[in-house]
Amino acid sequence: MEKPLLRRNVSLLPYNTFGVDVTAEYFATVHAPGDLYALKDAGATAEHAPLIIGKGSNILFTGNVHGLVLHNRIEGIRLIEKTGDAVILETGSGVEWDRFAGYCAGHRYYGAENLSLIPGTAGAAAVQNIGAYGAEAADIILSVTGVDLHTGEKRSFANRDCRFGYRYSLFKMPAFRSFFITSIRFRLSLHPRLNLSYPQLAEETEHIPHPDILDVREAVMRIRRIKLPDPGQTGNAGSFFKNPVVSKEKRDKLLVDYPDMPWHALPGEGFKIPAAWMIEKCGWKGKQSGPCATWSRQPLVIVNLGQANGKEILAFSRAIQKSVYERFAVLLEPEVLIL
Ligand SMILES: Cc1cc2nc3c(=O)[nH]c(=O)nc-3n(C[C@H](O)[C@H](O)[C@H](O)COP(=O)(O)OP(=O)(O)OC[C@H]3O[C@@H](n4cnc5c(N)ncnc54)[C@H](O)[C@@H]3O)c2cc1C
Repeated sequence: MEKPLLRRNVSLLPYNTFGVDVTAEYFATVHAPGDLYALKDAGATAEHAPLIIGKGSNILFTGNVHGLVLHNRIEGIRLIEKTGDAVILETGSGVEWDRFAGYCAGHRYYGAENLSLIPGTAGAAAVQNIGAYGAEAADIILSVTGVDLHTGEKRSFANRDCRFGYRYSLFKMPAFRSFFITSIRFRLSLHPRLNLSYPQLAEETEHIPHPDILDVREAVMRIRRIKLPDPGQTGNAGSFFKNPVVSKEKRDKLLVDYPDMPWHALPGEGFKIPAAWMIEKCGWKGKQSGPCATWSRQPLVIVNLGQANGKEILAFSRAIQKSVYERFAVLLEPEVLIL
């Protein structure tokens, strides 16, 4: 086990995909759960409020972090069990999500292929319940295990106890702020059942007579590469806002003024409206203001054109939020964690 080294005043520029340059007062890299106990025993997690980060692909830093940043690098993918129709895999929470998605597709384990190329770590995928192209991490998560950094207690949660929702889980609740997810178990199917329900994905694969899991993974990657900015080239954190969920009354009211408005009925109740459509209607698509802009092919993504700081990106996002509210009386909620 590598010793967790507590460093001071560390730049977080390499640790956030928005490319914002702020510093962490204290910083440590976690390679194994044992590192967390070492940090706890040294008093580090009690003394400084810990902030757990993976790849920083869903965080906007608006200033320096006064406290301890724990950078997760817990690696490893392990086969736990293989039955007639499924496999159970356990991953370290620091495993890069797309490495896991690629591993599953390569072994023909079904369920993660639609989530290909989403940046970040497996741990954050559980926190966020990442989703794309008609699939969500919650569909394949069996259980989540972690350590409470205050008590040192190790706890595991079965899927049904994780309260997964749209970009939501138990781990987003304030009581879990100091809960460091260390590993996740996934259940993947061995049956070649593909989910091509998402129209764009169906279209991208329709020329293939019998698409297999690798075709789907490649199609997803192709669509994403065309539609989304590469954080390695242009700072961003994916969708800045969640798609708003409105009541039936509200949807009907909006449809009177905007008969072309797309919407999607949710299984329980409520109607999801694409935030990108609202933002575009307000004239923000591809719009630039100083060092910030919306991405020309996906206005839900805010990009850092170079030297933007977190406060400028936040102000830009608030201007979008304000125009959407003024036009539709719908408040867009950030998907990105703003710190
Ligand atoms: C280009 C681009 C495209 C994207 N596309 C999608 C998409 O299609 N679908 C989607 O859902 N998201 C998407 N995202 C958002 C992002 O990829 C996900 O939210 C991802 O899960 C974040 O992973 P991360 O490791 O970078 O987490 P971070 O940004 O480092 O952290 C996110 C949150 O998780 C917490 N956290 C991280 N690791 C742990 C842990 N081990 N234990 C406890 N808490 C932890 C952090 O404290 C923070 O609250 C996209 C982002 C980008 C930049």
